[in-house]
This record gives sequence, structure tokens and C-alpha cells, in this order.
Amino acid sequence: MESPRTDQWRTTAAWVRSRVQAHHEWFAQSLPMIASENLISPLSRELLASDFHDRYAEGHPGKRYYQGCRYIDEVELRCEELARTLFRADYADVRPISGTTANLGVLFALTKPGDTISVVNVAHGAHISSADFGAVGVRGLHRVEYPFDLQKMIVDVDGARKVIRDAKPKVAWFGQSVFLFPTPIDQLQDAFEEVGCAVVYDAAHVLGLIAGGQFQDPLRQGAHVVNGSTHKTLPGPQHGLVVAKPRDDKMRRKLDFGMFPGVLSNHHLHSMAALAVSLAEFLEFGEAYAQMVVRNAQVLGSALHSRGVKVLCAEHGFTKSHTLALDVAANGGGADRVEALEQANIIANKNLLPWDDPKKAMHPSGIRLGSQELTRLGMGPAQMEEVAQLIARVIVDHEDPAVVRTDVATLRRDFQSIHYCFTPDVAAYRYHKLVP
Ligand SMILES: *Cc1c(COP(=O)(O)O)cnc(C)c1O
Repeated sequence: MESPRTDQWRTTAAWVRSRVQAHHEWFAQSLPMIASENLISPLSRELLASDFHDRYAEGHPGKRYYQGCRYIDEVELRCEELARTLFRADYADVRPISGTTANLGVLFALTKPGDTISVVNVAHGAHISSADFGAVGVRGLHRVEYPFDLQKMIVDVDGARKVIRDAKPKVAWFGQSVFLFPTPIDQLQDAFEEVGCAVVYDAAHVLGLIAGGQFQDPLRQGAHVVNGSTHKTLPGPQHGLVVAKPRDDKMRRKLDFGMFPGVLSNHHLHSMAALAVSLAEFLEFGEAYAQMVVRNAQVLGSALHSRGVKVLCAEHGFTKSHTLALDVAANGGGADRVEALEQANIIANKNLLPWDDPKKAMHPSGIRLGSQELTRLGMGPAQMEEVAQLIARVIVDHEDPAVVRTDVATLRRDFQSIHYCFTPDVAAYRYHKLVP
């Protein structure tokens, strides 16, 4: 016989499941526009629930600390090979369990406490990994920052060259979370060579664009290491990735050792397997997807601009990535407007703009939008025009979000399946189903 207490926790478990289901239903009628999110394919999603999840596989394929890894080894070797192929890299590590873990592992590999690192300022769009209170601080590094061109929203080349020459960093680190335009690392090659620093490009946001031949190609432009999250523009599982053209065997060994035993124990084998499928799908569909992501962002930027929304970098074509930055200070501010957008089922995040007071992170003047997930749902330029109109009705016209919400649902009704992936039966694999 079961005690009432057991029933209480059973009910609680069922309640949690029902909340996740409610989330699925909500997102199926919404426009998800957070620039760091995406939809995993049905085949990859299936593997997240596999027995790989329940296993350990420390070490390398063929040289494990545990038995039982026969098939895990096969998948891991193939996953590494797919990553090397997709990024045309000499080295791939598919073990990092997130972008931050990838960053920590690379920092652990290439620096010692007290070393100097050059980074983009967080206020200019860098990730908290680059801050004293993030991964760079965890490693105890001395941080110097590149000057930033606020008109073009890129690292200032002459200023960065000077910072690198003067500070002689062990690592020159690049990459941003508000990443509108490519970083001109190719123009800094002379400075890198002069000081002999390692060049690391944190591609968390733009990994899928790079893989799809858009934005820039850091490994061909002077970066030794490219690391990032595999679930932002690369539409894979929540995981991380390092690809590299190591300078020499020593760098290769350091990268390997930095990740394990450096910052990892087990490396989440279910998401590693899901990543292998996502990489294979990307090799098949990624180029078309990445092109459409960037085109959609540009169309959305110009459509918002023509409806009176202040989109940053209008004079430079708004963006070359999936991301747009909006200045909504005159429309009620970022915090106020993303809440109104959420009421209309348009999901976005408030964001500090470079000129905002960093202490006002909860009340910034900006909004960040991404086109990648809507693209994944099959939307194109025609839908971006409609999305721009829906957003402008909320941001500029302050129309009742409940009214806008019904039009959002109507638009979304025709976009329920995931594109750019292998799908045996699209209708049976709607992503909001709990079990495909
Ligand atoms: C998102 C992001 C990260 C962190 O990735 P997680 O997978 O969330 O840990 C690191 N660097 C940059 C530039 C990012 O945008």
C-alpha cells in the first residue's frame, strides 16, 4: 500500500511533466527569437533520450577508463571526423558539454594563472566568459580589452593591433554574444605573429554560420582554435565543440589535456551522439540553412527599420549574422518592450547596448533578436516582413499584445515542422511533442 506522501510526490512529478507540456504548447504558437536558441532535429532529439545518457566514457575511444564503450567509441570517432570535415579542421574535440566548458578547457590548455589575455569588452557584446567574473577570471588571467568601433560594431583594427603589441597576450581571444559583423582577425595577423600569441575565436553564436560558409572563416583567417556552443546557430544539442588547426603537437596535446582531465569528467554521451547526427544533417543542409538565416536577419532588419524601429547599424546593412540589435530607449526601454512582446508570444531578450550603464543590465535600452529558429521552422523573407510588422505593432505602436498574439498564432500555424534535417515523417515529429 502506498502512503499519501508517495502520492504527493507522484502528483508533483506529473505536475512537472505537465508544465513542460504546457511550455511545448506555448512555444508551438509563439515566435521564438532568442538569438542563442534553436530547434534540434527529431533524429538528434531521439538520441538525447537514449541509453548513451546513462553511461560513462572517460578518456578516448579505445583507451577508456570504463568498459561498455564499444558503440560509444564508434560514435565518438565518427562525430570527431564529422566535425573536422564540416569545419575543415585538423583537430576536433566533441567532448565539451557546453560553450562555457569549451572556453574553460581552452583557457586551461593555453594559459596559466597570471598570464595576459586580450578580449572584447562585455559591454561591446562579449560573453561573460571574457569577464573577470567569468571563465577568464576563474583562470586568474590578466585581461586587456580591444578598443571597439561603435559605428561598425566591430573590434577596432588599429586599436587592437596596438593592444596586442603592447600587452603581448598569451592568447588573443575573440567572439561575441551580440555578434553583428565579422571580426577582422585577418587584418591582425602581423600583430599575432609579432607577439607569438595563440588566437582563439569563440564562435558560440555563429558556429552554424561559419559551418555553412557565411559570416567568416576564422580557421582560414588566422585563428588556431575555434570553440563554441552547438545549439545556437548550429542547430544541434546543448553541447560544446572545439575545432582547431594547432600550431604544433604541443598545442594539440594541451588542448586535449585541457578538456579532460582539465575541466571534464564524463562528456554527456547522449548529446555527443545527437551532435554527430546534427553534424551529418548540417553537412547535407547547412549551407542553404545558413544562407537563409543571414538573409532573413537582413530582411527583418530592413523591414523593422522601415516601420520605425531603431535597428543598429542601418548604414552597414544591419547585420551579417543571424542577430539584430534594436535600440528601444524611445519606445519604453528593453525590459518593458520584451515583456510586451512576450505577452504577444514573441520571445526575445532585453540587452545592454554599448553605451548603456552596465549597472542597468535589468533595464537596458536594447533588444536582441535572432532569425535562426524561425528559419529552421521554414520561414523566409516573406514571413520576415510579417514578423517585422507584428514586432513593430508592439514596440512602436504599443498595440494591445493580446490582439497581436492572435495574429502571431495565425502566422505560426503554417510553420510547425523543422526544416534542414532528415525527417522520415515530418508530421509525426513535431518538435513540441514530448516523445517523438
Ligand atoms: C553562449 C555563449 C557562450 C556560452 O555557451 P553555453 O553553451 O551557454 O555555455 C560562450 N561564448 C559566447 C560568445 C556565447 O555567446
